Amino acid sequence: MGYFYKHTNLPQLDNLCQFDVLVVGAGAAGLYTALCLPDSLRVGLITKDTLALSASDWAQGGIAAAIAPDDSPVLHIEDTVRAGAGLCDLTAVTFLAKLAPSCIQSLVKMGVAFDRRGSELALTLEAAHSHSRVLHAADTTGREVITTLTAQVLERKNIQVITQAFALSLWLAPETGHCRGISLLYHGQVIWIRASAVVLATGGGGQVFAQTTNPALSTGDGVAIAWRAGALLRDLEFVQFHPTALTKTGADRFLISEAVRGEGAHLVDFQGRRFTFDYHPAGELAPRDVVSRAIFSHLQRSVSADPTTARQSAPHVWLDLRPIQPTKIRHRFPNIIRVCQHWGVDVFSEPIPVAPAAHYWMGGIVTDLMNRTSIPGLYAVGETASTGVHGANRLASNSLLECVVFGAQLANIKLEVDSGEWGSGGGGGAVGAGEAERDWLSQQEKLEALRQELPSLIWQYAGICREQEGLGVALTQVKMWQQEFAALPLSQFLLNLPPLQPASFNLPDTDRQLRLWGEIRNLLDVAYLILKSAAFRTESRGGHYRLDYPQPDPNWQAHTLVHGDNFFKQTPSDFYPVV
Ligand SMILES: Cc1cc2nc3c(=O)[nH]c(=O)nc-3n(C[C@H](O)[C@H](O)[C@H](O)COP(=O)(O)OP(=O)(O)OC[C@H]3O[C@@H](n4cnc5c(N)ncnc54)[C@H](O)[C@@H]3O)c2cc1C
Repeated sequence: MGYFYKHTNLPQLDNLCQFDVLVVGAGAAGLYTALCLPDSLRVGLITKDTLALSASDWAQGGIAAAIAPDDSPVLHIEDTVRAGAGLCDLTAVTFLAKLAPSCIQSLVKMGVAFDRRGSELALTLEAAHSHSRVLHAADTTGREVITTLTAQVLERKNIQVITQAFALSLWLAPETGHCRGISLLYHGQVIWIRASAVVLATGGGGQVFAQTTNPALSTGDGVAIAWRAGALLRDLEFVQFHPTALTKTGADRFLISEAVRGEGAHLVDFQGRRFTFDYHPAGELAPRDVVSRAIFSHLQRSVSADPTTARQSAPHVWLDLRPIQPTKIRHRFPNIIRVCQHWGVDVFSEPIPVAPAAHYWMGGIVTDLMNRTSIPGLYAVGETASTGVHGANRLASNSLLECVVFGAQLANIKLEVDSGEWGSGGGGGAVGAGEAERDWLSQQEKLEALRQELPSLIWQYAGICREQEGLGVALTQVKMWQQEFAALPLSQFLLNLPPLQPASFNLPDTDRQLRLWGEIRNLLDVAYLILKSAAFRTESRGGHYRLDYPQPDPNWQAHTLVHGDNFFKQTPSDFYPVV
């Protein structure tokens, strides 16, 4: 699975080193953005992990584009808007669907080897699409895209890749409020990097839930960082729960792609019955939130009817691939076959145990069609952004597409000239963390306990089904944890570090520990924001389901806007633009 790059040496970064544009995140959004930025600009591309790891790399099913003769962007728009449950921004969706075919062409030109049927690009059907429009590369589409984009990035002389570097916070010029750079945890130090523009492409936040298909790096960092800097956020309560994640004790919640159901797999209960038709006429191909809730409700009913179900360590239903021709399974789903086999499931002779898991975050940092946020000089692309294309629920395979369509717009970036002073900090050397490292073992224990307990709390109270009382309980707990976290000596040191002041640490396994600290800080903020937003919206819609308000409410056909600790309702008349 690992990749070998010719650029393996870690670059030396000085405090206050400078780029024209700093892209934080190296998934599909960050890589594509970096490639589309004019090559006259000096671009820094940062990832807290390696280039080989991102949610984009894990994408299986594919990328949507209306390229079939019987399809059209208009139909793609209709399907996207229908899935978005009244909250899509039509301008943004139209932009996405219309630019999709040319972006696919550009990916093909770069060398992405999508599957073909004869000489034509092969297309499959996925849930809630009216036409076959999902391009794929077996069941590892994301890897194919990421490998190709990475190779291109590494060829580009104007892009400096910086791996294992954790973006901590934004640096805004005090006089203008313009984003001028970031602080970064890198090689056991805090350093400050300046840039004329910063692009957040940090992906989603699935790790705030105990059950998620997302990789460990999906901790909502961009949303938390932008929120703390005062950026406008939107619709954070809308989380898509994917219905079919592998549910085996000890295994990660590996995603079993929607495409499997598109090709004809059945969801069955312990009696072998296709129960999803009890909940929606489209059965297995109903929208994801409907199928996830169908499984959730069905499992709850099964538990009441048969207490042995409750004793399963991980309650689940079954996904049966046997209605699909074995040759097709082999051709389309080699990775799913391999992973299931690893966990002792032979998909040709037995069904796969599956249950829902948090998968995609529709909400994010408010952006316009040019990816501008409400902070001048700050841009956001990909899952961390809220462009308006997903509304309350994302249509399958529209997110990789969003990364490339919106990433491409950065080709037209206009770097704003900010006449403010760069500031005088950072001239001296790094300050040692000293006291902050005191009693490290007990600090570490606290951090690790928070990392374990927080996602379980959020899964329980802000998962597939929510209600006011539970959201309140969870919010009280999260606020208490935020206080305990802020009281840690390490937090006291880092949270009070003056802007532009570098710092150095001497902890055991420093980079891992500092990253853990940074991720927990972000996860706590993300948890707070999701809980508050979910409590604010007193209706059910798309990826947000309230047991105490189970119906959509026309008065709530509105966005939830978040600015600092203020939560507002934004009605359709002023849906767009907001920046
Ligand atoms: C298992 C799975 C399957 C999926 N299948 C599909 C599919 O078939 N089709 C589809 O359209 N979508 C799919 N999705 C959704 C889609 O993959 C994601 O929405 C999309 O890839 C997000 O891309 P991104 O570039 O925004 O973020 P990511 O790909 O997650 O990349 C985020 C990047 O930001 C970096 N980063 C994060 N925080 C920091 C920080 N503080 N400092 C420095 N770097 C940071 C990370 O290291 C990483 O490089 C799937 C998702 C999952 C999890």
